Amino acid sequence: MLGAGIIGATIAEALAQRGADVAVLDMRGPNRGASQASAGMLTPYIEGEADSPLLNLCVRSLSLYDSFVARLLEVSRGGIEYARTGTLEIALDDDGVAKLLGNKVWLDTIGVESEWLDGNAVRSFEPSITPAAHGGLLTLDHGLVGVTSLMNALVHQARLAGATFEFPVEVHTVAQVGDRVEVTSVDRTWTGDAAVIAGGSWSRRVRIPGVPSLPVRPVRGQLLHLQWCEGDQPGRICWGPHCYAVPWSDGTVLVGATMEEVGFDEGTTVAGVNTLTSAAIELLPHATGARLDAIRVGLRPMLPDELPAIGPFAAAPRIVAATGHYRNGVLLAPLTAELVTGYLLDNVRDDLFEITTPDRFAKMEGGSA
Ligand SMILES: Cc1cc2nc3c(=O)[nH]c(=O)nc-3n(C[C@H](O)[C@H](O)[C@H](O)COP(=O)(O)OP(=O)(O)OC[C@H]3O[C@@H](n4cnc5c(N)ncnc54)[C@H](O)[C@@H]3O)c2cc1C
Repeated sequence: MLGAGIIGATIAEALAQRGADVAVLDMRGPNRGASQASAGMLTPYIEGEADSPLLNLCVRSLSLYDSFVARLLEVSRGGIEYARTGTLEIALDDDGVAKLLGNKVWLDTIGVESEWLDGNAVRSFEPSITPAAHGGLLTLDHGLVGVTSLMNALVHQARLAGATFEFPVEVHTVAQVGDRVEVTSVDRTWTGDAAVIAGGSWSRRVRIPGVPSLPVRPVRGQLLHLQWCEGDQPGRICWGPHCYAVPWSDGTVLVGATMEEVGFDEGTTVAGVNTLTSAAIELLPHATGARLDAIRVGLRPMLPDELPAIGPFAAAPRIVAATGHYRNGVLLAPLTAELVTGYLLDNVRDDLFEITTPDRFAKMEGGSA
């Protein structure tokens, strides 16, 4: 397994639980890439457009979440924060109202429970929201998960089941040789039956002989970690026109996130903080009194069609891609693990591989073997 982010850790845990011998190699360590920055939202009906393949993937993964967390909780030492308290999307003008009412019609059509709240109803339901709100759409199925607690549980469970985590190890080549694989770092080679590439934004840098490199590129996201000091903390995820706010049981609120194409720069910026604080105050006026505890930053791994690459390479079927999860890696982790585990241990090629195959980029300009 290359990569100990949420994707690599979830797959490693699932494989180890099934008795596979798993070594996870990471150039930094568990939860040191994009995953540590994630807001932990599980929001398919905001992220995926009607009838899109992304929506299909996200809905299927959300349906796995209750049992995924429940199973980990049985042995988790620190607990996992997980709640399905829904999202409240807020409109601050008439155009926003029209857009959200359109979404409500769509959700009704596909049988997803939602509720429209006018401005007054928003204020009594969620008093922390700005009095300027024109209305809000409550989508009850949505949820949130504390990513650090989830990662801790996954790594702990994977280790208990026999998986090893080795870091810092930077892998530069993964090759299929006959029906075996060879994974090579600067000073060592590992051999095994299969390899999974879960390197997030850095996946493109891994050389796979005979296979074009995956066109993954990083999209930086900055996010504020606020200690709520004044007034009511929101009771659920609130999503405004320019930011979202995710409340946690310890009294903190995450406000995110910027979308920036700045290569592999993982720095934080004054502009990012300025954008997010202004957007937070617009949505939740009490944010002015909040303490700024930390600025988080991460690189979302994005592929050109904004869908993940999950599945084997045709030219090297013992090497499996699990990358490019972009804005939804936390949400898509249980489904990704199910698909990869099914392929590697049960030889199941899920129909979803048709859309997630890493070979779909093979003919793109710039792909190099
Ligand atoms: C600000 C922000 C907010 C987000 N909010 C949400 C959200 O609310 N909900 C959601 O579902 N998603 C969210 N995301 C997206 C989510 O965080 C990502 O999709 C997810 O973390 C990707 O996980 P990953 O394991 O693929 O990558 P990463 O977490 O980046 O892990 C990849 C790992 O691979 C290792 N690696 C890479 N190359 C090599 C190599 N050659 N050798 C060894 N190791 C290597 C890296 O060191 C790293 O540890 C958010 C992202 C950001 C930045």
